[in-house]
Amino acid sequence: MTTVRAYIGLGANVGDARKTLTAAVHALAALPGAALVGVSRLYVTAPVEVADQPDFHNAVVALDVPAGRGGTATGASAAGAEASRSAPTGPIALLLALKSIERAFGRQDRFRYGPRELDLDLLLFGEERVLVERPEEGRSPDPAKATRLLEVPHPDAGRRLFVLAPLSDLAPDLIPPGWSESVEQARARRESIEGASAVRPIARWDSGSGAWV
Ligand code: AMP
Repeated sequence: MTTVRAYIGLGANVGDARKTLTAAVHALAALPGAALVGVSRLYVTAPVEVADQPDFHNAVVALDVPAGRGGTATGASAAGAEASRSAPTGPIALLLALKSIERAFGRQDRFRYGPRELDLDLLLFGEERVLVERPEEGRSPDPAKATRLLEVPHPDAGRRLFVLAPLSDLAPDLIPPGWSESVEQARARRESIEGASAVRPIARWDSGSGAWV
């Protein structure tokens, strides 16, 4: 089966954020057909935009997922066709899976950049560039809310040290589609703007115990 490497950004600042993010890594690894490839260090980061809230915990996960699209059968065998019907694939299917994990962790719908039990962002989906507009009737009255149902690479990925630092742990030399620099170059540039203390690594992922230590 052909797979594509997706990078997913994780964030939380409500409740026991470290515990939540650890459980979220396991939930991502358990998605149908997915293989966990890497987990960044765990970072404590100062909130951006809305300062009056607890610090965030952030990390990034690399996940290999089936490359097929929208649940169409790509396998030649009947078994392959059945598997791809039961587990829709592609970036939108992955986004919906992320949203359902967020809900399972009690994510409340609050204002953008506000406190969150768990935030999962699809940062990169292989080499794909995806832009799906949200239908008019599905838009929030909050003008700060994303009008796009899905944009990949995630539009904030190159602008935020709390994304770039953990992403650079996993893929420093990667040049995401549409970018003119590597992840590490973008991280260093953002660090010179935000300051080195904006994101603080506090633990590394231990795959033996399946936790940050
Ligand atoms: P957020 O406030 O970060 O949870 O994002 C809210 C909305 O952004 C989601 O409901 C998505 O439909 C939309 N969105 C657009 N692009 C992405 C992406 N790459 N990853 C996650 N959400 C996205």
